[in-house]
Amino acid sequence: MVRTLDGTVQSFLDGRLWHREHTPFSMQEIKREIDAGNIRTMQGVVTQRGRFGRVIYRCNRCLNENEARYTHFDCAKCGGNCTYCRSCLKMGRVSSCTELLYWTGPPVQFSQKHVNHWQGTLTDLQKRASEALIASNEKGRSHLIFAVCGAGKTEILFEPIHRLLLEGKRICVAAPRVDVILELAPRFQQAFPKTRVTALYGGVKPTLEPAQLILATTHQLYRFHEAFDVVFVDEADAFPYTADETLQKAVQKAAKKDAPIHFVTATPAKKMIREAIQNDALSMIPRRFHGYPLPVPTYVALWRYEQQIIRGKLPVKLHQWIERQVTEGMPFLLFFHNIELMEMTLPLIQKIDPRIKSVHAQDEQRKDKVLALRNKQTPGLLTTTILERGITIPKVQVAVLGAEQAIFNKSALIQIGGRVGRSKDAPNGDFILFHHGITHAMDDAKKEILLLNQKGGFR
Ligand SMILES: [Zn+2]
Ligand SMILES: [Zn+2]
Repeated sequence: MVRTLDGTVQSFLDGRLWHREHTPFSMQEIKREIDAGNIRTMQGVVTQRGRFGRVIYRCNRCLNENEARYTHFDCAKCGGNCTYCRSCLKMGRVSSCTELLYWTGPPVQFSQKHVNHWQGTLTDLQKRASEALIASNEKGRSHLIFAVCGAGKTEILFEPIHRLLLEGKRICVAAPRVDVILELAPRFQQAFPKTRVTALYGGVKPTLEPAQLILATTHQLYRFHEAFDVVFVDEADAFPYTADETLQKAVQKAAKKDAPIHFVTATPAKKMIREAIQNDALSMIPRRFHGYPLPVPTYVALWRYEQQIIRGKLPVKLHQWIERQVTEGMPFLLFFHNIELMEMTLPLIQKIDPRIKSVHAQDEQRKDKVLALRNKQTPGLLTTTILERGITIPKVQVAVLGAEQAIFNKSALIQIGGRVGRSKDAPNGDFILFHHGITHAMDDAKKEILLLNQKGGFR
């Protein structure tokens, strides 16, 4: 029996791994499907015996096996000594007595009627990458797209995804950061107007309809189980993806067995490149879609900037740079390594223009503030590294205050510079590194940008 009714237990649960007590369905409905053999249950946290009889805990939702990330407690629900996982606690508590549901009944049949409505044209390099990706999909092979910031990565994915959709495949585009998902979601929905596209990130309620194309933060993949025929991981190197091994496992768990997992990034790790070359599955795009080179960073020494700011004085060169952006009407981003310094600097900068704002990860108005910058309602934003990637603002000028700080590693600096000059009519712009001493990371980033420009045919 094949049912494709929207909003059924099947359409919701197929491919998901869900807390029994938190489904949008009644207990009776769930029980009926369990009795019918359509749903199976899995214990939330299980224990295994390791070496020397050591007990190893494992969370079946996020695959966490780090003992330090578990808490033992007297559980009122099961009346026993219970253990819960702190690694995925944000998504609701999973403990030893939690039952996780997954669908084993007939699979949802996804539509094979789709259109690729994207009207643009790919550059030769983009086209080659797009075709290579299609070939890798046909071979069931994972592919790496190594494309500079502004190469037009998303457009490369449209046709390969379209082909998969036509085969009734279910696809996930995952990115570590919510900002990237928020920017991608409308572009995918426009490209595929007949396709159910769903964006999943912290705080958003999942719909009951079975979305065929899912855009999700990597954390959301904890809630999937052998769901996707193909997964694309965008900005694969971005924190927290590289730092957190469980997120990498989550991507594996959400994909069906042997499903290709593609990576798309401007700053891949060396190991990733080596593996892709070995598998003959690397596409490299050293040129931006508009044919202009990547902006090269300019170093500007700003000795003891922190002490100056603490004393309530904005360093002169920084003052001049901001004043120039405001007078010339150029939107700007000024990156900081920590929130405290940023909040201390904000009032000093607001003396130049009170409409300038600051933004950080926990800021609830973060979306609105970025929008205000795009709409020119605010002349510029001070920001932590949360805005280092994924966002595109026409004509944006970029500077880093304290480029010598450890958080600004090579990848971060390359990504930050990648915000500049992304549109065809404004392909250049400032990329200033205000610093108290030049670091290896700064030099490495500059060297790589120059090298990529060389590979892209510039001297
Ligand atoms: Zn967990
Ligand atoms: Zn319990």
